[in-house]
Amino acid sequence: MSKIKFKLVNCDFCGLSKLSKLYSAKDNYHKRNGLFSIVKCDKCGLVYTNPQPTKETMSFFYSDSAGYFKPVKTSGKDSWIYHALLREYYDYYPHEKSNKIAKTILFPYYLLTFKKMKSEGMPKFVNEGHLLDIGCSYGNFLSKMKKLGWQVKGIELNKKAAEWGRKNSGLNIINSDIDHLKTNEKFDVITMRMLLEHVYSPKKVLKKVKGLLKPNGTLIISIPNFDGFEARLYGKYAYTLQVPTHLTHFTPKTIRLYLKSSGFKDIKIYYQKVDRDLIVPLEYMNEDGKNESHLLNILSNKLIRKTFVKWFINILCILHKTSRMTIYASK
Ligand SMILES: [Zn+2]
Repeated sequence: MSKIKFKLVNCDFCGLSKLSKLYSAKDNYHKRNGLFSIVKCDKCGLVYTNPQPTKETMSFFYSDSAGYFKPVKTSGKDSWIYHALLREYYDYYPHEKSNKIAKTILFPYYLLTFKKMKSEGMPKFVNEGHLLDIGCSYGNFLSKMKKLGWQVKGIELNKKAAEWGRKNSGLNIINSDIDHLKTNEKFDVITMRMLLEHVYSPKKVLKKVKGLLKPNGTLIISIPNFDGFEARLYGKYAYTLQVPTHLTHFTPKTIRLYLKSSGFKDIKIYYQKVDRDLIVPLEYMNEDGKNESHLLNILSNKLIRKTFVKWFINILCILHKTSRMTIYASK
């Protein structure tokens, strides 16, 4: 391993170097040594990690054994109700006849599950549509989309994950980063699932992605929400902070600014429900010598996690205050 190097950067959004330091945080996720500063741009309010590990150094802060890269076996058949929901409300299975009775009966279920489906990044089906997943890892999401009838392609920087997806799931995964991708292909849908917070310049990536979309194509992004309740409550211990691999710490306001200035329209934000965000920071605090084991034991209790924690996260989600979001935007 060559020497670990960092560099100070200006705000990626507005280019300004005037900033205020919010706090320093440890790498609680990958457990690498060091203390990393979180700063906020005085002009546009963008929060980012500064200084940042250089490109050559960054691989040191990732590890293959971490949660990013895990192949997951896709489950067998979807339930009939899920299948019918996709057919009646999301245009899937175009060769099957729509059923008016089923559609009417499913309407309350559609309303109940609408936000969850959106927060999971489910696109409306486009017949013979092309979908690109940037940062697709082993291709778990791509496999699911392929099964649902999409023509799928993935880009993944981690060689091992890209190879695994190609070999075991028969997926078309290019081992590259988005900056170096050369293709004339245009896509109906592009997804970036927990990726944009890792890139050096979200501005550059969004510009490139816009060029890869067909007119009226849809971009679906999922990212942490720095303004979320758990992120605010736990601060430097927040599970979604993950410094220094997370370089930009978006809020609903700053991601909207980015998307608007990149020329995207119809921006809609949905909030994800992840109970880990409320519990894991207590483990980090314990590791750091703060004694939170009592609260951790209570919240980790299976029954409490399934009732109180779940209910609490539901309320946060209704208030648009969870610490992860899924954003839809059109070209
Ligand atoms: Zn700025």
